[in-house]
Amino acid sequence: MKPAKFSYVLPATVDAAVEALVASNGEGKVLAGGQSLLPLLNFRMARPSVLVDLNGINGLSYIEDRGDRIAIGALTRHRELELSPLIAAKLPVMAAAMRHVAHLAIRNRGTIGGSLSHADPAAELPMLATFYDAQISVQGPSGRRKIAPEEFFVDALTNCLEPEEIVVEIEFPILTQDAWAFEEVARRFGDFALASIAVAVRRGPSGLEAARVAVMGVANTPRRLTEAESELVAMQLDDRTPDRFSEIVVSLVSPNDDLHASADYRKHLLAQLAKRALRTALAMKG
Ligand code: FAD
Repeated sequence: MKPAKFSYVLPATVDAAVEALVASNGEGKVLAGGQSLLPLLNFRMARPSVLVDLNGINGLSYIEDRGDRIAIGALTRHRELELSPLIAAKLPVMAAAMRHVAHLAIRNRGTIGGSLSHADPAAELPMLATFYDAQISVQGPSGRRKIAPEEFFVDALTNCLEPEEIVVEIEFPILTQDAWAFEEVARRFGDFALASIAVAVRRGPSGLEAARVAVMGVANTPRRLTEAESELVAMQLDDRTPDRFSEIVVSLVSPNDDLHASADYRKHLLAQLAKRALRTALAMKG
């Protein structure tokens, strides 16, 4: 199919893009990489009266070291994140996850701002934003505000943005946990995940000092499992630890049956991934 008729604007600044959205009275849509929006337009599942193309705005694509955090511009492509030495050094879980995002052609066009805004519950970047506890900066008619991932991801394919707001930057704090793992199962490599987990730990002289755990594909939004983090830090480390950790992780999620997999199958996958991820993280030298 072809999209329904729409007008097209190519603003040169974020201010002008916001103005175009305001002028559209809630009927406008932002275009970034187009990898999710264009199929929706072609199937006429989205029928905006105006497309506001962000690709004419300079200065929205960057990866910047800010000391204790890495700032990423909303128009930064998936492929740039995948290949960035700065991301590999400072956000290694992101570097490991990016090659699982779709296929090369899609990673060449897709953007971080688009992926977060699309809010697919099985997409890697929303999960990474949750895992790292990122700050999502958005600009609207009354200026800029920062949003935490738990507030931003409201439901499957639903974010908390007002119709005139645009994601402009995402700041990812650098974790103090220095050993980590990212595990995912998809039907074919590059497909959306059926289940996935990211784990990071910091070892001390007498056990774990800190842990970070997030999952996706097992709820309508990505989830950080703070209860699993504190239980993991309190655990005695021995051969049984990955099994006990896996049981805790699975007890904290309740996926639904859907077209792609049953809830039981997703839980089964997550249990195996949790064990594998913790074993990998514990075996990694920090
Ligand atoms: P667009 O398609 O341009 O926009 C998506 C939505 O976000 C639209 O509603 C748009 O209005 C809004 N939007 C875009 N940018 C902004 C912004 N800055 N501020 C506010 N709203 C904005 N993704 C994965 O993570 N993992 C996968 O395994 C995966 N597999 C895929 C497989 C296929 C076959 C396809 C077609 C896509 C797949 N994707 C996957 C999605 C891909 O990563 C997309 O690039 C991404 O979801 C959307 O990014 P985009 O820049 O293309 O956004």
